Amino acid sequence: MSTAAYAAASAGAALAPWSIERRAPGAHDVQIEIAYCGVCHSDIHQARGEWGGGIFPMVPGHEIVGHVGAVGNAVTRFKVGDAVGVGCFVDSCRECASCRDGVEQYCSNGMTVTYNGYERGTQTPTHGGYSTRVVVDENYVLRVPAGIPLDRAAPLLCAGITVYSPLRHYGLKAGDQIAVVGLGGLGHMGVKIARAMGAKVTVLSTSPSKRDDALALGADDFAATREAATFRKLAGKFDFILDTVSAAHDYNAYLNLLKRDGTMILVGMPDQPVPLAAGALIMGRKRLVGSLIGGIRETQEMLDFCATHNVASDIELIPAARINEAYERMIKGDVRYRFVIDCASF
Ligand code: NAP
Ligand code: ZN
Ligand code: ZN
Repeated sequence: MSTAAYAAASAGAALAPWSIERRAPGAHDVQIEIAYCGVCHSDIHQARGEWGGGIFPMVPGHEIVGHVGAVGNAVTRFKVGDAVGVGCFVDSCRECASCRDGVEQYCSNGMTVTYNGYERGTQTPTHGGYSTRVVVDENYVLRVPAGIPLDRAAPLLCAGITVYSPLRHYGLKAGDQIAVVGLGGLGHMGVKIARAMGAKVTVLSTSPSKRDDALALGADDFAATREAATFRKLAGKFDFILDTVSAAHDYNAYLNLLKRDGTMILVGMPDQPVPLAAGALIMGRKRLVGSLIGGIRETQEMLDFCATHNVASDIELIPAARINEAYERMIKGDVRYRFVIDCASF
């Protein structure tokens, strides 16, 4: 099936209209007519080759929502018309310990990423949601609960689960003090979800102009990280720090803001390594940990949690033709708080 898309022809090239072929749905497949696709900073990192390699032409996009247009004859969980989503991966080996534990993102044989990968066991590149249609095995399709507007649900499929999963895994509790570093796509979902879990949230940002937004999103406090006084005033305050920053920065300074036994969670993935002082962890027995998106079961749990707690992304809806401009604005930190492509604009 010929499908309209936007692609980067090579690393760093501007995205431009392109046409891809989607397979006809097999017995276990769901064909999804894409309504909206969120724009994640990982799309920029990959389309520009910042994480090395990359399969081009590349159609980015892993925050996909839409409606089921057709199902294979063995599909049991979805029917035509259902509101559904697809996140960062579309398959995995289904046999390794991680797949059996429902954390397919850590598949030891490699998850099949939604784009910038290959269809399992083939040399056919996968292509993402900057397109009008995608075909995915039903085991890797999520149900979008009624009650979350579809366009505002798209960013939950990556930004939402990426912050939800570590907060659950590392045990954020009601009443805990958490700092969210970087108020972008992931960061704003971090504020909303941590708040819905009952935590006290402080936003740490390089953009003083985001103060009012941070408080409106549900943060209890805001501090500007370009002011040195912030790092003195907030020393030892937090049980958790959720670091969503996309560019290299000094982790040591943030570790000093943790309480004894506090945990700093890295989800932002800069392309450059950062030196770490052992003392920053030793003094106060601190933990520096990371986390990658979330498994299918937990992603569904997150979507249901968001529906229950009235949580959705704050978005700026754009036509596909404005994708390059959106990338430039994201790099400047100028996004409130997620660009979402209206796929009716193709
Ligand atoms: P985004 O919307 O561009 O937000 C990133 C934020 O980081 C910006 O809004 C800005 O916030 C802050 N920032 C940017 N440059 C900075 C700098 N030089 N110094 C300090 N702060 C800076 O990006 P996103 O989509 O949320 O993604 C964030 C990162 O997470 C990316 O690296 C992405 O690849 C990664 N990611 C990881 C996972 C995972 O599974 N671990 C999943 C998705 C994305 P302020 O203006 O508030 O400072
Ligand atoms: Zn993403
Ligand atoms: Zn596996």
